[in-house]
Order: sequence, then C-alpha cells, then structure tokens
Amino acid sequence: MSFSKLGLSEALVRAVTEHGYTQPTPVQAQAIPAVLAGGDLLAGAQTGTGKTAGFVLPMLQRLGQSAAANPPRPGTRPIRALILTPTRELAAQVEESVRTYGKYAKLSSLVVFGGVGIHPQIAAMKRGVDILVATPGRLLDHMGQGTVNLSHVEILVLDEADRMLDMGFIRDIRRILAVLPKRRQNLLFSATFSEEIKTLADSLLNAPAMIEVARRNSTVEIITQKVHPVDRDRKRELLSHLIKTQNWHQVLVFTRTKHGANKLAEQLNDDGITALAIHGNKSQSARTRALAEFKDGDLQVLVATDIAARGIDIDQLPHVVNYDLPNVPEDYVHRIGRTGRAGATGEAISLVCVDEKAFLHDIERLIKREIPSVVVPGFVPDPTARAQPILQRQQRGGGGGGGQRRSGQGNGNGQGRNGQGQVKGQGRGGQSKAKAPGTKPAPAPAPGVRPSGARPAATRRFAPKGR
Ligand code: AMP
Repeated sequence: MSFSKLGLSEALVRAVTEHGYTQPTPVQAQAIPAVLAGGDLLAGAQTGTGKTAGFVLPMLQRLGQSAAANPPRPGTRPIRALILTPTRELAAQVEESVRTYGKYAKLSSLVVFGGVGIHPQIAAMKRGVDILVATPGRLLDHMGQGTVNLSHVEILVLDEADRMLDMGFIRDIRRILAVLPKRRQNLLFSATFSEEIKTLADSLLNAPAMIEVARRNSTVEIITQKVHPVDRDRKRELLSHLIKTQNWHQVLVFTRTKHGANKLAEQLNDDGITALAIHGNKSQSARTRALAEFKDGDLQVLVATDIAARGIDIDQLPHVVNYDLPNVPEDYVHRIGRTGRAGATGEAISLVCVDEKAFLHDIERLIKREIPSVVVPGFVPDPTARAQPILQRQQRGGGGGGGQRRSGQGNGNGQGRNGQGQVKGQGRGGQSKAKAPGTKPAPAPAPGVRPSGARPAATRRFAPKGR
C-alpha cells in the first residue's frame, strides 16, 4: 500500500515521502479514503498510531480542492478547518504536522493556545488562516474578544477527544460547536469510548465512517521493558550511572511529582548530565524550549510528569525511564508508549524500590506479563529494607503533575477556564460501556490491557498494600 494509492495528490505524497514515510500506517490507510469521501468519521486511535497524518493529509487535499472550486473573495482568507486538541504541546505538534505535510499545499495554518500572548495570535489571524489548531480555552478567549471568525469552518477535528473530556473541556467544546456552520465535516479521534464520548459522538457526527486500529498499548510488544530494583535513596545515582555507562543521549524520565521532576533535573545537572524538567508549573515558553532542545538532541534528559508529557511526540525515542512508577497502571502504558514509536524499537526501564512493589504488581497485572528484573551490579538493594507509604504530593493549580490525576485539581495543563479542571467521573465502570456509537464495538484494547475507562486503582493515593 502506498500513499498515492489512497487517492492523495502528488504534492501531498511528495511531502510525506520527503518526510521519510514510505507507507501509510493502518489508521492512515483507513482514515484517508474515508475523509476524502467527505463524510464524518469516528476513529479509535491514539497518539503514536500516525493518526495526525490520517486526518491532516485528506484535510489538506479537500481544502485545496474546495479552494480551487470556490476561490475566496480577494483579500479574505477565512478559517476553513478547525482542529481542537486537549494540550498545548499536542496543538503545537499537530500544527507542525500541518506545515510538514502541507509543504507543497498553498494553505496557511496557525496554532493558538494559552500561556502565551494573545496579540500575536490576533495579528496572525487577521492576516488570514486556512487551518486553525487550538486548545479550547484559548479559542474561547478569542471568541469572547471577537478576534476569531469560525463561520466558514468546513472541517472540524476533535483530536484526543477522550482527553479533552477528561480534562473538563466538554462545555467549552459545546460552546465552540455552537458557533460553527451546521454543514461541515466532523472527525472525532479518541483512544477510548466512555459513555460521555459516545454521547458527544452521537450529537456531533452524522452517519460516520468508523475505523479502529490496535491501541497503542499493543506496541508494548516491540518495547524492551526492564525493572532495575534499587534502594529508594540510590535511584538518582543509578540513573546517572546508567546514562553514563550506557551512553544514553535522549532519555525521557518520568517522575510522579513536579517537585520530584525539578529536583531530579537539578541533580542530574550536578552529575554533568544536561537535564530539564517540564510540568504544569513551568511557563509555556520554558516547556516549549525544553522540548525543542530535547528533540534537537541538545538536551540529554527531559524529566516530565505524566500529564506534562502527554502528546509529546519524539520520533524513535530510544529510552524511557520510570524514575518513579506511576500509581495509575495505565499511565505506565502511556509512558512507555513514548518509546518504540511508529515501528521503531525502544527500551523502557523502571527503577523500582521496595515502596513501589504494589505499583509494579498492578502494572504487571494490567499488561499481563512479568517485567524482567535485573539488578545492576553495585546497586543491589538492601534485602532487609521495609516498604514505606508513598504520599502523593497535592498538585494544586494548573495540574501538570503526577499522581492526583483524578482529584479534580487543575486540568493537567494549566488551561482550565478557571484553573480548576472540571474532572468528571464518566462511566469508568468497566468495559461493558466501552462501545462506540452505532452498532460497532469500541476499538479493542490490546490483549491484557484494560481500556482507560476502567481504572479501579486510579484513586488510590497511598501505597503500598503492605507487601
Ligand atoms: P501520531 O500518532 O500522529 O502522533 O504519529 C506518531 C509518529 O508516527 C510521529 O512521529 C509521526 O511522524 C510518525 N508517523 C506517522 N505516519 C507515519 C508513516 N506513515 N510512516 C512512518 N512514521 C509515521
């Protein structure tokens, strides 16, 4: 299967080929013809599957065709496609993809999100934008100020719709939908299908084509996973040792808390390893800068909390380290999904101390496999050490931090309308509810992987269970 066989124009095929893609991923093979056909789409796919090109490529083609058929009035350039994403990082990455894949298409794009000045966005919008990528909060700010006109939108994409709902954006989304033209093409991408997503999809989509691809989780197959047991106060030493002796150059390290991320980044720098932390308390410009340096290879280690790392897309990230194990087992799967992307192999290492054995047990139960445990010479853990409870730090204001994901504080990205995420319980009761609208079942999770709609351990704040 080649991109040209999917009905894409020569200019688009050239752009993706130059970008190094030789053949479409499964979600692209299904989504591109469906979107080109002009109807609505409900897609079960998550980050890492190639879903962005799955909607961006056919969108570029359709917009190019409709511009040729109905050229806009001279001097006008209305927004004709709107892509909503849950996080700033994802918004920035999607817009970057629009520019990459649209290299030879004569369409302009803009990304707008909070945490940065609004005036440059207003100025850019005035100059004319065909494709707008936005987070809901900042888009509503523009709507409130009358600085965005959405009355010509032909295509709407809700990307990572489940995350947007998780982050409390449903009312914002509805307010945005209310100002869009009634006649438009709607594309909804979601990794999971809770009742709330189903309701949204039912109200938004008109006889959608439905596609589903294997959950990202299934790629745990191509990721080498390893546990290094270690004493709790020797983790930093072990991490530095591994980075230095194994010559790791691009390592994404996860910590449970923002404080932990800051401290670790500082300590690694003291050890002569370049490291920066990203989390919700950092300014947007600091986060963007850290990510750019990391992507360019100027920064050896990026230390991140779970929510701040969402949407981070770095090609073929070779190493992911769980400095702390997450207390929500599904987060482990999301974390290690940052490596081994789009067919590349990767290594996920977890540094596990005696306090985290219960977390490890939950993770192994979720992925239905035992993660090989390898003691690093010189770091043999004290066999007499007793487990201590792990007290999750409260992550107030702006979210972005580790373990309190379902506590309703912050929205994980500092983008909530009032700084308070409106996190809702949304049918997290189990798999029986995980059905897409219509008759087709929701995308099946990988063997042994529970859909994120079912997370009985999610609210636990203290560990371990005395093991
Ligand atoms: P996404 O799921 O859209 O975030 O994409 C995940 C990663 O896969 C990104 O790094 C893309 O650059 C990469 N990718 C997307 N499509 C292809 C393709 N057809 N071949 C190889 N890599 C791809």
